[in-house]
Amino acid sequence: MAAASLSPSLAGPLVRRLSDSHGRVIHDLRVSITDRCNYKCVYCRSGEGEERYPELTIAEYLSLIELFVGLGITKVRLTGGEPLLRRGLVELIAELARMRTLDGEPLDLAITTNGHLLASLARPLKDAGLNRVTVSMDAVDSAVFERITRVPGSFEKVLAGVRAAREAGLTPLKINCVLLRGFNEDQIEGFARFARDEDVVVRFIEFMPLEEGRLWTPEIVVPLREVVERIGRVLPLQELPAREAGETARRYTFADGVGEIGIIAPVSQAFCGACSRVRLTSDGKIRTCLFSQVEHDLYGHMRSLLEDGALERGHNNAQEELREYICRTVHGKEARHHIGEPGFLKPSRSMVHIGG
Ligand code: SAM
Repeated sequence: MAAASLSPSLAGPLVRRLSDSHGRVIHDLRVSITDRCNYKCVYCRSGEGEERYPELTIAEYLSLIELFVGLGITKVRLTGGEPLLRRGLVELIAELARMRTLDGEPLDLAITTNGHLLASLARPLKDAGLNRVTVSMDAVDSAVFERITRVPGSFEKVLAGVRAAREAGLTPLKINCVLLRGFNEDQIEGFARFARDEDVVVRFIEFMPLEEGRLWTPEIVVPLREVVERIGRVLPLQELPAREAGETARRYTFADGVGEIGIIAPVSQAFCGACSRVRLTSDGKIRTCLFSQVEHDLYGHMRSLLEDGALERGHNNAQEELREYICRTVHGKEARHHIGEPGFLKPSRSMVHIGG
């Protein structure tokens, strides 16, 4: 795919901040930089063939992200697929670290990864300017872990990645665990100990209907209160106050204050009212909700302006048109998802192809 590039100066004359028609300010951008993945987690991918969307060049991601930053985005999380598979990732982080928010601050830069390649990349990523990393881990028992990822030796690799990230200072280090009844709910207590032993924040996430196959049922979701009850039986928990309005995780510590557990309950206690996110897929489409039924082809729009020569003829006008397009799209963000309601429709893409 040919490189499309906007000029480095995207600050328009108007200072606008992204918001939607429900009064939410949008300051958090998730960007998928590939939908390839080196794991085949049983609850995520069917394992039969891999639907693939095109990837943009690193320069193209930078151009698109810069447009969003010029509209008030302050936090950028790179995801996928598996973002550590993407060549040029360290350079991308280094470039993002040079960008400034509308208030002149550095961006808050994070990556969500399965951690398989993190042992060797943690230090270069930190040196390039990455602030934090979230590692996905769905078991603390290596046999259960490998049954879920379907990759032999994966547990040791991820554990080494977690430790390397902590040593590199990519902290607070968060571990995300998706719980599914009958797959890994027996890992809950082990994760509570893991949080304390490894000095990481473990966050349990309710399973959402975003898989490639047809696994999701209301019964497979392990709800928040069940997690709290189970951990509380072995290690008493104390709830921590929210640090900011709209925090997605309910946070708990243990009686002695060592370690932290978070619970993200998009199904049993949806937090859409406080959503501040928008997503860009690996092929440059804006998704205003994980469960959106429509996508908005920002990259296609940029390409057609380039092909028209519009970007060359009137650079500022063309950038303004793209910014307008983003503002209009984000303004129409959905009020909430409808998981579990009659008539609920799965989105056209599964989690791995959207960017979790
Ligand atoms: N490969 C990276 C990783 O493993 O973190 C980034 C992409 S992965 C799709 C992002 C996160 O989405 C992972 O933590 C994964 O467990 C989670 N996930 C995938 N399918 C999910 C689902 N149906 N419901 C909730 N979380 C899901």
